[in-house]
Amino acid sequence: MSLEIDKNKQYEIIVFPNQDEGLRAQRILISKGKDFKHISTLAVVVPEENKELVCRVIINENVLVSGRYPFLYHDYEEDFFKRAKEYKVSESSGEFLNSITLCYVAPCMADEKKIRLIGYFNRDITEILPYLNAVIKGASYNNGASTLTYAKERRLINLYNIKITIAKADDIIDAWLILDEVKKLVNNTYSSRDTIKPNYEEKVKVTALQIYGWLPKTNCRACGEATCLAFACRLLQGEQKLSKCVPLSTESKFAENKIIMQEMAEALGV
Ligand code: SF4
Repeated sequence: MSLEIDKNKQYEIIVFPNQDEGLRAQRILISKGKDFKHISTLAVVVPEENKELVCRVIINENVLVSGRYPFLYHDYEEDFFKRAKEYKVSESSGEFLNSITLCYVAPCMADEKKIRLIGYFNRDITEILPYLNAVIKGASYNNGASTLTYAKERRLINLYNIKITIAKADDIIDAWLILDEVKKLVNNTYSSRDTIKPNYEEKVKVTALQIYGWLPKTNCRACGEATCLAFACRLLQGEQKLSKCVPLSTESKFAENKIIMQEMAEALGV
């Protein structure tokens, strides 16, 4: 079924972890006469009012779903479908990292136009993290926790031993492209590791100003500091706790920032 997208209606994107599951879901939806629009073998658009029913239909057939998020047509226009058409699912075998399976997708809590996601590597990449720490500019490495954190424009990327989390991706195509980019980076780094000096340094490369950027910036003083910037400096030095920022902990509009800050704090060990 090819659903005509109406600009005045609400839709939802359903994402599948791999092509087999995506194709199986689409075959089931066709056989059951359900309306959907094909994005790629990995995702479909369904009308908002049918989302629960569609999910039930495919989950009852044991199809795996990574997640779903609102599709706001007016934000994308035709560009979204054009980019989806151009996207080719990357295939690699026999490399250090063969695949990253997207297991969780959800809207960012504070900004429904963005998504956050969790993917799992097909193998443990711990041994490559110090090499990536040497290669990625501005990355923050925590040897004890086996995590590497870096920012790509507004997106925050955390690499763990077998997992990757990304916050504030633009949409699912943006997410797929970042995952492909990370896979390529890991494989290239692995293949040229003999020429790279691994960097085990856990130096904090996130600056107070970057932390300040994720804070509410109201200078309300509820944390006991005179300004948000002062709080950011003391947090970086391990002299403050994230939970002391009251608006960040309690106001739903800062929920996404709170998660990002928690991940950043965990990665930095502060
Ligand atoms: S409680 Fe949070 S918002 Fe208020 S001054 Fe401290 S850091 Fe800024």
